[in-house]
Parts: sequence; structure tokens; C-alpha cells
Amino acid sequence: MVHYHEVGLKGKNRAHFERILMDSIKAACAAFSISCVTRISGHILVTFSRAEDVSSAFEVIRKVPGVARVSLAYHTNREPDEYGRAAIRALSEAGVFETFKVSAKRSNTDYPLTSMDLNRQVGEVLCEAFPDKKVKMRDPDVTVNVLVVQGSVYVYARSERGVGGLPVGSAGKVVTLLSSGIDSPVATWMLARRGAVCVPVHFSGRPQTADTSEYLCQDIIAALAPAIQIGRLYVVPFGDCQREISLACPSDLRVIMYRRVMYAVAERIAKIEGAKAIVTGESLGQVASQTLENIMAVNEVVDIPVFRPLIGSDKQEIIARAEAIGTYEISCETAPDCCTLFMPRKPETHAKLDAVHAAWDLFDHEAMIEHLVDAVEYIDFESGSYKPPRMLRERHDELAPRG
Ligand code: ATP
Ligand code: MG
Repeated sequence: MVHYHEVGLKGKNRAHFERILMDSIKAACAAFSISCVTRISGHILVTFSRAEDVSSAFEVIRKVPGVARVSLAYHTNREPDEYGRAAIRALSEAGVFETFKVSAKRSNTDYPLTSMDLNRQVGEVLCEAFPDKKVKMRDPDVTVNVLVVQGSVYVYARSERGVGGLPVGSAGKVVTLLSSGIDSPVATWMLARRGAVCVPVHFSGRPQTADTSEYLCQDIIAALAPAIQIGRLYVVPFGDCQREISLACPSDLRVIMYRRVMYAVAERIAKIEGAKAIVTGESLGQVASQTLENIMAVNEVVDIPVFRPLIGSDKQEIIARAEAIGTYEISCETAPDCCTLFMPRKPETHAKLDAVHAAWDLFDHEAMIEHLVDAVEYIDFESGSYKPPRMLRERHDELAPRG
């Protein structure tokens, strides 16, 4: 039984949200024997035809954005013996506990017993089955929930928090700048958790470097699945252009030039995709390119909003999140990407806009951006929420897929 936060989800909004959440859960559980996903009285009920799938599916569903809590529920009819037995089973699976209570609710039912009657009835059964445990109304270790909906009774005790947020697809589309480093996978995950369909764009150092970082990006996408399904990874072979920039521009401004080109290309891909923002993993002051001056010097090349969900996070917090979402180990594998290529010994940390503009005019940036957009490649993955843009679909054979 999946619980979600209903705050702010009223009227039409709510039905829309529930539909997307149900689709995400179905997609995330495609490997399991789902028999049905339905709404019951403010919850989503996911049923399986093979009992042995339930515990693995439970862990997957917890990670699906929009899921506030998941409970392992038993479904019975309205026979007191039946739901009493389910309550004993549910409580015995709830882990170590000393105290418990029963919390019954009725919804949309003609069942003659009131919630109070049910609490008492099931409470007695449990007291008999667990004679050394105590009933405690306030703050018990475990609550056994009994939910009567029409002709059915659902009983659950084991319940774990989910990742929360909003279901992917409920908040539009964003392009995320994905390196194989620690930060940007976390930034991508955060936007997905707020309901955005994320379309990652990776700048590879190819052909000046190997393509290892491209495979790491694919591994990162695989690690986020099946709870978060990214449908397409764009890869921009950037090495030759970086070389051109490094030859044309003062070395201390190279990084800013690379990044301006990256942002501009990302904005073009966002337009093609119908994405309304760019997302990066920048964290204030973390490295030379992430000072306020440098962020400003890069940001000015684009018109759409740039989101930096990690701007105020410490590295340790970001690492903890990367571990929790399963991307940390992949990000620790070193691979040369465009960040390691043609790096100056002393990058500018407080770029002056005049100098930046002068350097920007030292190479034909318009032609370079155009060329990179034309050279973009992509790799598609299984995803229920991503819809590819028509414009590129027509060029599919020409552009994709590599590898
Ligand atoms: P990360 O850990 O995400 O690589 P970082 O600490 O290495 O970040 P930078 O190299 O300054 O920091 O990159 C800042 C942001 O720019 C990254 O979080 C990412 O969003 C984007 N970025 C950096 N390199 C690439 C790349 N090769 N391809 C796509 N985006 C990139
Ligand atoms: Mg990096």
C-alpha cells in the first residue's frame, strides 16, 4: 500500500498526480509479477501474483518519486477471523517491538462495526497472540492498521518511508548537465524527485580522450533505474572544440569558455526537447569555476533558468546522498572527460566580464555551438515518462544510437 502526501493536491491536480504516480510504480515494478495497481481511499494499492516478489518490489517502490511511505498490507474479506489472522501475521513481521496499538479506519463501507469496535476486536486477538507485549495508545513501537474499504479489509504493520517528492512527469522536462562526477548525478536525482523528466547531456573529451566517461554516465542512469527512468542520454564529443578553445584563448579563461559553450549547447538541446530549464551540480565555491563571478560569467550565455540544487550543500552531504541513490561508487571511478582535458595550471577564479567577452570573441563560438549541436549523439533507455522530440526522431538513423 503506497501512501503519498496530499498537501496541495486538490481537485483535478490530484487525479493527474495519482495517474502519473501509478504509471511510475507500474514501470518501476515491470520486473515483478504485478497483478493490479489501483486507488483505494487516498492510497495506491499494488498487488502481486507471486508473494516472493513483494519484498524486492517494496524496496523499489520506496525509491519512486512521489511515494511518501510504503506499507506491507494483507488483503482479506470482512470475516473477523480472516482479518484477525492477517493482523497477527502483520504484527509478527513488523520487527522488534515491545508496545503496539491498533488503528482502524473505515471508508465507504456499510460494515456494521465502528472503528472503535474494530480496534477493540483486533486488539483482543493480538493481545492473545502476543501475551508478553503491551498495548500503548501513545507513541507505540508498532501500529497495526486496519482499513475497511467496501467489502475488503487491508491490514498492515510494517511500514517504511519513501523518498517523497512528486512523480516523474508531473513537473515538466529539464536538461541536466551530467558529468560522471559525484555532484551532477545527485542534482539530476533531486530534480527527478521533484517530478521533472530529466534529459541528461554529457560532454565527452572524445576524440581527444577515451569514451570511458560516457559509459560511466550510462552506468549512473542504470543505477537510478528502475525507480527513476531516464529515457535518453545525449553525448556531445567535445574534445576537438576544447582543443580549439585552448589554442585561441588565454589559458586562465579556458574553463569559462568551455562552460559557456556547454551551457549554450545544453540550451539548444533544451529547445529541441521542449525542456524549460538547465540543471547543474554546482556547489558554491567548491572548485574554481564555481565562484559567484564565474557562475555569472557562464550563466549569461543562456536565457532559460539554470537550476543548481546543490548550490548550498556541503560535499559530505552530497556524498551521503550519492551513496543513498547508488551513484557514488560509479562516480569514484576516474575517467577523463572534458573537465580534465586541456586544464590550465591557474584557472581564473574571479573572472571579469570584459576579459570574458574579449576571450569569447577570439574563436567563432556561434559556428562551434552549431557544429556541436549537429554532432550530438544519443543513447535511449527504457522509460515510461520520457517522450522523444519529433524533430530528432526524424534524424534518428543519422544520429543514434552509438554503442
Ligand atoms: P560533478 O561532480 O558533477 O562533476 P564538479 O564538482 O566536478 O561536478 P565542475 O567540473 O565545475 O564541478 O562541474 C560543475 C557542473 O558542470 C557539474 O556538476 C555538471 O552539472 C556540469 N558538468 C561538468 N562537466 C561536465 C561534463 N563533462 N558533461 C556535462 N556536464 C558537466
Ligand atoms: Mg566533474
